[in-house]
Amino acid sequence: FNVPNIENEPMKPYGPGSAEREGLKAAYAQMEKDLPFEIPCIVNGKPVKTGKIQKQHLPADHARHLVTYHEADEATITAAIEGSLAAKAEWEAMPWADRAAIFLKAADLVAGKYRYQIMAATMLGQGKNVWQAEIDAAAELADFLRFGVKYVEQLYAIQPPKNAAGSWNRTEYRALEGFVLAVTPFNFTAIGGNLCATPAIVGNVVIWKPSPYAIYANYITHKIFLEAGVPPAVIQFTPGPAEAVVAQAINHVDFAALHFTGSTHVFKKLWKDISNNVDIYKGYPRIVGETGGKNFHVVHESAEVRNAVVQSVRAAFEYQGQKCSALSRLYVSESIWTNGGFKDQLLAEIEKIKIGDPGEWTNYMGPVIGRPSYDKITSYIQKAKDAGGEVLIGGIGDDSKGYYVKPTVILTKDPKSVTMVEEIFGPVITVYVFPDASFSETLHLIDTTTTYALTGAIFASSRPALIAATNALRNAAGNVYYNEKCTGAVVGQQPFGGARASGTNDKAGSMSIFYRFVSARSIKEGF
Ligand code: GLU
Repeated sequence: FNVPNIENEPMKPYGPGSAEREGLKAAYAQMEKDLPFEIPCIVNGKPVKTGKIQKQHLPADHARHLVTYHEADEATITAAIEGSLAAKAEWEAMPWADRAAIFLKAADLVAGKYRYQIMAATMLGQGKNVWQAEIDAAAELADFLRFGVKYVEQLYAIQPPKNAAGSWNRTEYRALEGFVLAVTPFNFTAIGGNLCATPAIVGNVVIWKPSPYAIYANYITHKIFLEAGVPPAVIQFTPGPAEAVVAQAINHVDFAALHFTGSTHVFKKLWKDISNNVDIYKGYPRIVGETGGKNFHVVHESAEVRNAVVQSVRAAFEYQGQKCSALSRLYVSESIWTNGGFKDQLLAEIEKIKIGDPGEWTNYMGPVIGRPSYDKITSYIQKAKDAGGEVLIGGIGDDSKGYYVKPTVILTKDPKSVTMVEEIFGPVITVYVFPDASFSETLHLIDTTTTYALTGAIFASSRPALIAATNALRNAAGNVYYNEKCTGAVVGQQPFGGARASGTNDKAGSMSIFYRFVSARSIKEGF
């Protein structure tokens, strides 16, 4: 069968006076009025209130909290794992058209009935402004689900090209034996949903450990999955404590895969823990992860200055730099920086940035997600200053009400200084100005400065410069952009993911990632 034609979910306008704006505003106001919400674990489709209560504060106003949620305890995690394993055979055996229809319906619920609610939850809980919430919680989440179905249909169609006379070869794409653990981040509501949906679409069952900072939007996503017809025990919603949920899952004989987005440090630890357990499992677990980044823009002397400035500001400061893909190292050729006016234009653009509560629609930047992030980001600014970096703009935070950090630019003379090397995950970029004649040395520097390799962008109107950079940076980024910012990969258009310390590069938003969650069986039949 053919799944319906798939398109990217169109962005809505949200301009003054639009019906969309009114709809979202109403949902947001209602949510603000009704908070805090009590969120249980959802196991086998039923709420489980363990009484182990945690709170999630509003990043824009830490005196208020959005949710109180019940953390999964040992018995709940056991019930989740056992329940999912019991549900697996029936789920996997469900005809593909029905499984596909469930996720297509979930996408329609995201983009339609629940659009404003899931966006409002993402704005309130994760501090996104309306445009960032739209890109993430409405469009990207729906795209992941719809394109996921399309990609799986293509995967299932891949069959051996040859049959010897008197025989027929088939390949069958079975779900993995066991369950999948999804450990998901705060920064994209879409990633939370996708890390569960990707394995589930091909017939797996999933234990979902959401980020404590994205509980409400993830809870709504889970509710949508159930409403769309995902059987109750197929995706189990079990919020933290992270160590306990993860340990119980990866110490289980039926642990089959980890689907992870988060920090490099945690991913490496889980990898080691899983390796140490290899003798207890039925098979070799699949480990799929997207982790940190230290993403670059390099601006060649031939670059179009205005474009490079505008794209750099967006890549660095949209969603407060809290994207794995966000710009954090900016290499600018000397003639562009000074005579070309790059520096002045950059600072002038940043001056214009409005920062404040995402609920006030005109703010370009909001708060960072929480106390630990705020402390980490501001301490990196201090470290940069201690290392001799010059703060050209920003450099201060205000945590009196919410966790606000001003968009910050540090100029360094040392291309290996700490903020050129380590991931900050906030609105801070470090600029290194290089002599025009040292373009190739600079490319080498970009390649060798960090252990990460997620995204990068090359700004040049010279084709030879683009080619030289692409070759020199062959392994320095999984997503490369020419004259475009290094953030904002679109599902179905730019498969996303990086290598080196940035992840297993299995490319979210592509067919290849579905391969990781199936175990193929070859069948030869003789006639
Ligand atoms: N896919 C997003 C982008 O291209 C980033 C995802 C992430 O932060 O993990 O900007």
